[in-house]
Amino acid sequence: MSLTFLVTGGAGFIGSAVVRELIGNTEHRVVNVDKLTYAGNLESLPAFVTDSARYRFHLADIGDREAMARILEEAQPDVILHLAAESHVDRSIDGPAAFIDTNIVGTYQLLEAVRSYWQALAERDASRAQRFRFHHISTDEVYGDLAPEDPPFAETHAYAPSSPYAASKASADHLVRAWRRTYGLPTLVTNCSNNYGPYHFPEKLIPLMILNALAGKPLPVYGDGLQVRDWLYVEDHARALVHVATQGEVGETYNIGGCNEIRNIDVVRTVCQLLEALKPEKPAGVARYADLITHVTDRPGHDTRYAIDAGKLERELGWRPRETFESGLRETVAWYLENPQWWQRIQDHSYQGERLGLAATGDDAPEAPAKNDGANDA
Ligand code: NAD
Repeated sequence: MSLTFLVTGGAGFIGSAVVRELIGNTEHRVVNVDKLTYAGNLESLPAFVTDSARYRFHLADIGDREAMARILEEAQPDVILHLAAESHVDRSIDGPAAFIDTNIVGTYQLLEAVRSYWQALAERDASRAQRFRFHHISTDEVYGDLAPEDPPFAETHAYAPSSPYAASKASADHLVRAWRRTYGLPTLVTNCSNNYGPYHFPEKLIPLMILNALAGKPLPVYGDGLQVRDWLYVEDHARALVHVATQGEVGETYNIGGCNEIRNIDVVRTVCQLLEALKPEKPAGVARYADLITHVTDRPGHDTRYAIDAGKLERELGWRPRETFESGLRETVAWYLENPQWWQRIQDHSYQGERLGLAATGDDAPEAPAKNDGANDA
């Protein structure tokens, strides 16, 4: 059956992969709602998406309840995939306010707009209201830090977020579960590990390393670089989200991961090795890309290890990632080499200009991307 998906944050890194997956590989319709912060980029949505009769875009803030109510009324979605968020840990340390506003208050406002929509739908069309789903997309960072010998995070692991980003996502997860328990809203939550892949904003670890290496700039690694993360290719995450939204059990939480626990320093070394193979001609003065690795002062409160147990998703819904870290990282490095126009337009800020020609349902001022000076998580 062809459904209408409302995707919040569909111009971001993971949201745009979800939109490409839905339009490219399914018959579903997509309504993309995005405020286009510095992280939102409509150039991550190719013509096969934007030219499709099954695709619509609304420029709006999830925290604007009236705008969201209007969009919901017009779009009449069967499924909401809620990805819109402030997502960058370092920015949350420098300025937590936007994280509280969007990730917590914005999610609350969205939940209230969605609750009204769903209740009205139940009065009008009980069977459509029955199949309605609100799927909240969250992170493994809500679980906090793991010691090297600890088992990976299961869905039952207690929340212990370390950064303002992680705490804001943990709060949003609790709100979503409370709206399920208190109001009966048909919700699902997924908590995913670090994503990587094409169209990743250049402030995050892997694209930052690729682009700095290509420019002959230092590759800044926090502390000793021994922090361990689990890595998932973004298109695997997008497929998992569509799968959970359509096959998952209402009220359940599913962890999503790639079974790829890797130390940050090894991620950076592997990026360097792939560049040696795929782009052997280096900038002047650089003998080996790995010579550019530079250790910088560690991030405050930096978690040592995250690891995800995605067994429930495999056992109950039959989902497994298609890519290994090696295959996904090779595709990622190759994509950045083949698509310089995408990242150069971020580096010179011209990508934000695209928003000006849009029919807007909300409005906000463009923000410039901040300068980067550290090596960051996904
Ligand atoms: P991103 O920063 O690349 O994209 C976020 C998108 O949300 C942007 O397009 C932005 O314009 C939009 N947005 C921000 N505030 C908004 C608002 N108030 N109203 C409407 N739109 C708004 O983030 P991402 O990496 O694609 O992450 C998407 C979601 O997945 C987030 O909820 C994040 O917490 C979660 N997540 C990310 C990762 C990861 O590795 N990147 C891992 C697990 C979970």
